[in-house]
Amino acid sequence: MNEAVEERAVAAYLGLAIGDALGATVEFMTPREIRAEYGVHDTIRGGGWLKLKSGEVTDDTTMALALGQSILEQGRVEALAVARAFDGWMRAKPVDIGNTVRRGILRFRQTGEACTPPNEHDAGNGACMRTLPVALATVHSDRNAVRAAALAQAHVTHNHPLSDAATVCVIEMVQAFLVGRSRAEVMHEQVYPLIEQYPPFRFRGGKPRENPSGYVVDTLQTVFQCFFDTDSFADCVVETVNRGGDADTTGAIAGMLAGACFGLEAIPAPWVRALNPAVREACERQARALIRLGDRSVTKHGPP
Ligand code: MG
Ligand code: MG
Repeated sequence: MNEAVEERAVAAYLGLAIGDALGATVEFMTPREIRAEYGVHDTIRGGGWLKLKSGEVTDDTTMALALGQSILEQGRVEALAVARAFDGWMRAKPVDIGNTVRRGILRFRQTGEACTPPNEHDAGNGACMRTLPVALATVHSDRNAVRAAALAQAHVTHNHPLSDAATVCVIEMVQAFLVGRSRAEVMHEQVYPLIEQYPPFRFRGGKPRENPSGYVVDTLQTVFQCFFDTDSFADCVVETVNRGGDADTTGAIAGMLAGACFGLEAIPAPWVRALNPAVREACERQARALIRLGDRSVTKHGPP
């Protein structure tokens, strides 16, 4: 087992939770409103439209934990088990839930099918935001197996080419960082190919993205701008959430990428301490268990 990989996995999971907790305070605010209220918003303090307690997280993190739990129980990414896990997650009355996620889970309750049919309205960021456990559990699997696992979890609620492409790309980026690739390498090997195939994801040459919606293209453009144009975990996450809009989700994705890239020592200790302790422990525990599963089950994640 490679300890450096495991540390980066923990950093990615804590990064996800920290970005979510920090961003939730300013979700749906504009950058101007954030400046008026906080100057630069860089403290985990709860509040926001969900009226969270300080250190509390939202669906981005809790859906990832539900997905990760299912993967650990099954020893692999199993679509039906993932659908049941999301169903149980919704029954537990999460603090928030996206429309596409709700529709997908209700559909599963009615049909028992874990794969929703293609839908032109499914290009939201809900499948991408929760996908970190798949990246960890398939870190050593081949590309086809990673893609199959990524889409099995995504299609429980979202079935759209842009959501699929974003989800697979974020997984491959995390995996590349876990094994020590640089940002320049990841830009060339993961991000440019995404943009070549799906030009809407272009994030250079325009104005900085502000108030990103839940559309996965808006989400990744914002995350890519903030992640590639800053040089530390803290700067990346602060820049991201201060762009407002779907800030908990952009924060969560930026945090997982920056955690995997910059590692555990790069995450400011006050943010780690500010997380709800149960959430922090669950993220750490799952990160280590999923990486160990990935070490053991290189070949298990093939197409069903
Ligand atoms: Mg959320
Ligand atoms: Mg959100």
